[in-house]
Amino acid sequence: MINLTAELAKRRTFAIISHPDAGKTTVTEKLLLWGNAIQLAGSVKGKRGPHAKSDWMTMEQERGISVTSSVMQFPYKDRIVNLLDTPGHEDFSEDTYRTLTAVDSVLMMIDGAKGVEDRTIKLMEVCRLRDTPILTFINKMDRESRDAVELLDEIENVLKITAAPINWPLGSGKEFVGVYNFYTDVIHVYQQGMGHTIPDDIQIKGLDSDEATKLLGSYAQDIRDQIEFVRGATHQFDLEEYLAGRMTPVFFGTALGNFGVREMLDGFVEWAPTPRARATHERLVEPAEEKFSGFIFKIQANMDPKHRDRIAFMRICSGTYSQGMKMKHVRLGKDVKIADAVTFMAGDRSAVDEAIAGDIIGLHNHGTIQIGDTFTEGESLKFTGIPHFAPELFRRIRLKDPLKMKQLQKGLQQLSEEGSTQVFFPINNNDIVVGAVGVLQFEVVAYRLKDEYKVEAIYEPVSVTTARWCECDDAKKLEEFKRKCAENLALDGGGHLTYLAPSRVNLSLTQERHPDVVFRATREH
Ligand code: GDP
Repeated sequence: MINLTAELAKRRTFAIISHPDAGKTTVTEKLLLWGNAIQLAGSVKGKRGPHAKSDWMTMEQERGISVTSSVMQFPYKDRIVNLLDTPGHEDFSEDTYRTLTAVDSVLMMIDGAKGVEDRTIKLMEVCRLRDTPILTFINKMDRESRDAVELLDEIENVLKITAAPINWPLGSGKEFVGVYNFYTDVIHVYQQGMGHTIPDDIQIKGLDSDEATKLLGSYAQDIRDQIEFVRGATHQFDLEEYLAGRMTPVFFGTALGNFGVREMLDGFVEWAPTPRARATHERLVEPAEEKFSGFIFKIQANMDPKHRDRIAFMRICSGTYSQGMKMKHVRLGKDVKIADAVTFMAGDRSAVDEAIAGDIIGLHNHGTIQIGDTFTEGESLKFTGIPHFAPELFRRIRLKDPLKMKQLQKGLQQLSEEGSTQVFFPINNNDIVVGAVGVLQFEVVAYRLKDEYKVEAIYEPVSVTTARWCECDDAKKLEEFKRKCAENLALDGGGHLTYLAPSRVNLSLTQERHPDVVFRATREH
C-alpha cells in the first residue's frame, strides 16, 4: 500500500501556456532533461525526440505543428511532476482549454522580445475561470529583449495579475551575462552553448561584490540602479497570493540555453500546489480521500499508428488507481475492470501499477468513454467544468459516395466524442453540419474521415455564424420556439437542441423574441 498523503505532497501537475513560438517546446525538452528523463535533450519536435511516437499525423509533420498533445511524468528532486502538453496552434484551443481543467497550476512562457501576446491573453482568461496559479518564465533573454520593467508592467496591466520578479536579467542579447536573485542576493552566471547539458551553477554571491563588478563591466552601475528601483517598485513574492491566482512569480532566462530553467523549476516544485480538491455536482472531492475518482478530459486517437487505438486521458482526483481495479463508469452506471491503463513517462507509454490523485492515466477506449465522463469506486459523482465551446466556423458535409453514410456518421460521432469537431443535425433537413473553433480543425476532420473511415466528402460553406445551446423550462414555450425557429435549429452530437445563427444580429433578435429560452455559448460535457 502506498502512503497517499506522502505521495500527494510530492505531486505537481501542470501545463504550459504560451503564444506559439515563445518556447514551450524548447522548455519542455529542458524540463525533461532536468528530470533526467532523457540524457541529452534532443528536439521534442524532431524525429527521434520523445514525442516521435505521438507524431502520428503526416499532416502534422508536414506542417510542423503539434496538434496532438500528451502527458509526461518526470521526477525532480523528491517531487513527481506531471506535465500536460497542450497543442500550441490556436485552432486547437478547445483541446487546450480542456487540458487546463485537469491541471493544478500553469507555467506561462513569454517571449522577452515580444511580451504578452494574444494567445497568452486568451489562455490566461481560461486559467482565471478557476483561479489557477501561474508561474511566469520570460524567455529568450539571450536575444535582444524588451526592457524588463516594461515586460513586468505589461504582465500587470494586460493580464491583470501582480508580478513578483524572483530574479532579474543582467543585460540581454549579446550582453546577457546572467540573472540576479532578489531573495538570495546571488548572481547565477550564464554560460553560452550549454543548452544540451545540465550546466554547472556558477554563482557570484552579492550584487555589490567585486566579482559582480567584473562580470557586469561598464553596465554595473546602471544594472545596480535598476535592480534597486525594481526592488522598491515591485511586490514581494507571497505564496498565498500566488496560490489564489492573484500573483505570478517571474523568472527570466533562456530555454534554448537551458539557463534560468533550473531556478524556475526549483521555484515551481517548491511553490506549485499539490493536487487540489475538485468540484462535482454533488460535493467537493478531496485528493486524499481513500476512494478512487477521476474524470476524462481528453480523448486522443492514433497515438500509435500501428494500433489505431484511442486513449482516454483521465485526471485522477482522489485515491489510488491500481492495476486491475474495478471502477464505476458513472454515466453508463456500469462497473468496468481497468486492467491495462497506461502512464506517460516522458512521452513513452508504459503500463502503470499504481497512480494517485494528480496523476494522469490513459484508458483504452473502445467507444464507450466520452470527454467529461466520471469514474469512481462506486459513488455517483459528476465532476464539473469540462466545457464545450460554441464553434465559430461551420461547414456542411456532402458525401462523394452517398453509400458511405454509415461510415460518415460513425466517424463523426467518434470525432465529436473526442472533441475533434462538433457535429449538428438540422431538424428540418438531412444536412450534416460540422463546427469548429479553428479552421485547421476541418482539415483534421477531413483527413481522419478519409484515413480512418474511408469517407471522402466535400466541405461546403454554410451560412452559420455561431451556435447556442438552447434550454427552456416551460415546455409550451419550448415547443413554440421549436416551431418558429425550426429552420435554424439542430441537434448536436449528444442530442442537445442547438440554435445555428446565420448572423449575430439574427441571434440577438431571436434571443429578444424568446426571452424564456436560455442560449448558452458553452455546454458542459
Ligand atoms: P513553441 O512554439 O512555443 O513550442 O516554441 P519553440 O520551443 O518551438 O521555439 C520557437 C523558436 O524559438 C525555436 O526556433 C526555438 O529554437 C527558439 N527558441 C526557444 N527558446 C529560445 C531561447 O531561449 N533563445 C533563443 N534565441 N531562441 C529560442
